[in-house]
Amino acid sequence: MDVLAKGQQLRLLAHRAASVRHSCSSIRPARSRFLHTVVAQARQSAALRELQEQQEERASQVLESKTPVVTDLTWDRPLDIIKYPDPRLRAVNAKIGTFNDKVKQLGMEMLEVMYNGDDGVGLAAPQVGVNVRMMVYNPTGRRGDEEYILVNPKILSASGKREVHEEGCLSFPRLFANVERPYKVKVRAQDVKGDTLMLTLNGWQARIFLHEYDHLQGTLFHDRMNPEELRKIHKGLVALEEEYLQLHPGAVVQRV
Ligand SMILES: [Zn+2]
Repeated sequence: MDVLAKGQQLRLLAHRAASVRHSCSSIRPARSRFLHTVVAQARQSAALRELQEQQEERASQVLESKTPVVTDLTWDRPLDIIKYPDPRLRAVNAKIGTFNDKVKQLGMEMLEVMYNGDDGVGLAAPQVGVNVRMMVYNPTGRRGDEEYILVNPKILSASGKREVHEEGCLSFPRLFANVERPYKVKVRAQDVKGDTLMLTLNGWQARIFLHEYDHLQGTLFHDRMNPEELRKIHKGLVALEEEYLQLHPGAVVQRV
């Protein structure tokens, strides 16, 4: 290697180093712009989420203020599970405004009907034709285990994490399909005496609660299924509709 060549080499290296420095300096602002954009987007979506939650909260407050309140709880004995597509499953459910012995009595009778049902772990009042905001459940379905009677329940928050699991419903005999629901839910409800309960439910318990809560909103489990799952039980749904219409000719019901 001669001196001239070395000089050229040095110039070449200096030029390369300069161009590397140049490209580095041009990367830095680009990365910083990228990070800035990511942070801005995250802030924007958090703000949007917050706004959405506020709007939902306001909408639920408006809905709650319009929800009828029942002060004298009555029902026909013996309680019996009504089946899809009975219109009472889609009717408005009133809040319970008076807490007396009847509230506990209805809860106990609903638990009894649930245990006598087909492997039932939860039941909402509209499923026994009583259109009030009340549900019972027992995660094991074994009599005397963890029994819950929740009155006027309200969802405070639900997790972004969701899970898919097979569900059945006592109002849809022998029909099972997958439903996606939040994994965790925070709930405020009243017990049979009217005292406030705060619950954090996970997994299976959250799923049972959300299924029963849907009943109180007039939402049924097949409303939450994706088209593929719905296809699996479509024939069964139509069969239940036909059965109901045979027993109640001329009834106006929602059909799939
Ligand atoms: Zn159900």
